[in-house]
Amino acid sequence: MRATERRGRLVLLAPLAGWSTPLDEIPDPVFAGRMLGDGLAVDPTSATLHAPCDGQIIALPESRHAVTLRSDAGAEILMHIGIDTVGLGGEGFEAHVRVGRKVIAGERLITFDLDLIARRAKSLLTPILVMEGCGFTVLRSNESREIAVGDVLMEIAQAGAGEASLPIGADGPGADTARNANAQIRTVRVALEHGIHARPAAQIVSALKSLAGQVDLTIHGHTANARSTVALMKLGVRKGDEVRVRAVGRDAAGAVEAIAAVLAGAHEQTGGPAPAVQHASPSVQPLARATVEVGPGSALPGVVASRGLAVGQAVRLALREIEVTPAGAGISHETLQLEGARAQVRARLEAARATASNTAREIVAAHLELLDDPELTEKSLALIADGASAAYAWRQAIRASVEALRALGDPRMAERVDDLLDLERQVLLSMSGHAIAVAQDLPPDAIVLAEELLPSQLVGLDATRLAGIGLAAGGATSHVSILAAAMGIPALVAVGPGLLRIPEGAALLLDADAGWLHVDPGAERLAAARRELEARTSRRAAEREAAQRDCYTADGTRIEVFANVGSLADAQAAVRNGAEGCGLLRTEFLFLERGTPPSEAEQHAEYQQLAEALAGKPLTVRTLDIGGDKPIPYLPMPAEENPALGLRGVRTSLWRPDLLRQQLRAILGVRPHGQCRILLPMITDVAEIRSVRAMVEEARAQIGRREPIELGVMIETPASALMADALAQEADFFSIGTNDLTQYTLAMDRGHPELAARLDALHPAVLRLIARTAQAAQGRKRMVAVCGGLASDPVAAPILIGLGVQELSAVPSVIPRLKALIRRLTLAECGGIAREALEQASAEAVRASALRRVGRESEYTSGCD
Ligand code: PEP
Ligand code: MG
Repeated sequence: MRATERRGRLVLLAPLAGWSTPLDEIPDPVFAGRMLGDGLAVDPTSATLHAPCDGQIIALPESRHAVTLRSDAGAEILMHIGIDTVGLGGEGFEAHVRVGRKVIAGERLITFDLDLIARRAKSLLTPILVMEGCGFTVLRSNESREIAVGDVLMEIAQAGAGEASLPIGADGPGADTARNANAQIRTVRVALEHGIHARPAAQIVSALKSLAGQVDLTIHGHTANARSTVALMKLGVRKGDEVRVRAVGRDAAGAVEAIAAVLAGAHEQTGGPAPAVQHASPSVQPLARATVEVGPGSALPGVVASRGLAVGQAVRLALREIEVTPAGAGISHETLQLEGARAQVRARLEAARATASNTAREIVAAHLELLDDPELTEKSLALIADGASAAYAWRQAIRASVEALRALGDPRMAERVDDLLDLERQVLLSMSGHAIAVAQDLPPDAIVLAEELLPSQLVGLDATRLAGIGLAAGGATSHVSILAAAMGIPALVAVGPGLLRIPEGAALLLDADAGWLHVDPGAERLAAARRELEARTSRRAAEREAAQRDCYTADGTRIEVFANVGSLADAQAAVRNGAEGCGLLRTEFLFLERGTPPSEAEQHAEYQQLAEALAGKPLTVRTLDIGGDKPIPYLPMPAEENPALGLRGVRTSLWRPDLLRQQLRAILGVRPHGQCRILLPMITDVAEIRSVRAMVEEARAQIGRREPIELGVMIETPASALMADALAQEADFFSIGTNDLTQYTLAMDRGHPELAARLDALHPAVLRLIARTAQAAQGRKRMVAVCGGLASDPVAAPILIGLGVQELSAVPSVIPRLKALIRRLTLAECGGIAREALEQASAEAVRASALRRVGRESEYTSGCD
């Protein structure tokens, strides 16, 4: 049949052979949500794309993965081969036409490598769309059947020329009704302590990832797409509000259930809105700010975001606006521009996520999530359809969300505003051909001063020349502060507007230990600060060098100093810093932020790679420690009133033994056998160890491994500490998780911002439980380690060693310092300090007594970065 165009109607012929599929089936919210336009998808069995009607080619990107043609009457038809194929950069595609060329229906447009795309793209489904805004709508479509090239695919009509959209062959306006038939609607009262802020919004989006269908939330007449964190946050929902949840589609019931659970506070961490990324205990020192003259000799107070000292010259960094042209060059051209730029940014962020340390990875993950936020995409595409350029549309979409979030007046949204503005910049820079956001070259010893700094800007600066950072605004827990701390760059924030009056090139002394920025402090002070810096640098270098040697106390007792690891980058950092092994591999990193669990083979490959990165040193793999506070979409948990006391740690694993069995086999397969040992989280009684040990033996038999494997337990609850003697009969070793042990002993949520200062693992109650655990371990000759945060606290080292701990597993960067301290202590000294600590009445008193006994306070506190 020929494609015909008559009375404002046009028949489109199938451009590919395959199976015609409704757009809802496409694994991409932009297409499934019909943001670009309505139409059908074809799951292709042929590898040549033909013209569906007569027309002119109006868009064909360099990547040749998509093409748009315009019919004589103005219908614009976009054909997009596969999903996420822009990232292939043209590999596997060959175009047979150019922009401007007139083609006739059935003419060959693009040939492609079906196998390559099947392997490399997210999906082969090829949307054939009538572009939004071109004035045509779909009248009938030939969906869910096998089609050959040239079969009738759709009939489309100019607005006003036809009836409502129908599948061809449907006998009335029933298709839409049929789709809506399983709509689920529920009104839910929000129990979340702080309403829908960033974390619950992200939890809702994450919970919906594995569920199909359209889901929205309505309150006070405002409706938001529940797959958009931005839209959800903008609703400004507060505790006690009633929200209408509506879901349509295959998984409607599950979607409503999942959202209701989040809104009921099932996943909430008591105390609420912990930021998306938790700060590695910034030293925040709020200071009264007097109006200060800025000139030679003046000093400006600020809030410490990243400790340290820097001497250098002022380098002013202004965020240069990126110019954009408002008018676009056609819907297809601009749509593909936007798609291309987002794909580039996505690829760069994904690459960064793969290699980043924990901190940076969480920030990157937040950016990735926002990059694909359907509200931003929808708004941008609507603006493009109205004639805007891609850059202008993206900026407007971001700015509208930023304004809406700012209007809520909720300080918890500040981080998200920063993320959005950062993302605006990254996409605009990508459109203008800048792959990396390099803001400006730096002179040596630059102390960068700015009103605010975006994380991507910081990452783009030359770290070898960056000595310090001073910001007029900002907070100690903003993403940029967290990144600065992770990079070891001293930073002061919230210094105030005076900072912006400091002249370019002024000599600066940034004291981010005490919280002052000194402007032109005079040659003498600068020289003294340089001497102090040199002393710190050489002490650190010496400690680092010595860190490569095994650790013994001054009187020859072996203390193993291991590292906690949560990624390959961490393992590499651990080895560089002299870790003698990994005392805790948090395997959660493999399971989060994805739609399906990692396969056994994938897990095995990751563990093997980590074992190799540790170059034969022991690797302690903790089984999945997941629970209600870290929901994973493919593991829907029953709603829990009190997630911290619910299905957590080994309990989750025993509830889903299929996942545990896979993980055990993956660990047991790592070579050489003997390098790995297994650690079980949140154990409270011997039955749990026995169950897992039986599964280990079963898995060992399945993979035919002869050598046994050590099976240890984490002591993280008062119950396990008190029962340590019984547990020691079953377990091969202990590792004390002081983070949870402190939380459960003191009954204080470890993520509670108000309680953070009181949640000190040096509390004598916690120390008494550690003492009891170590005693029980000694009785059975079991090794006892500490892998919680206390192991990274230098003040705690003599106490823990004195209590009988033989292994400390710490964050990699503190290992050289820890080893240096331990080498100066004798076991007798440590025993005395520990005994005295156990007699104190508070954590502060313990800290003071330990410091008094050792008498070298500066070595325990300053410069430990
Ligand atoms: C702990 O609780 O101390 C611990 C090491 O485990 P996590 O911090 O991963 O809960
Ligand atoms: Mg724990």
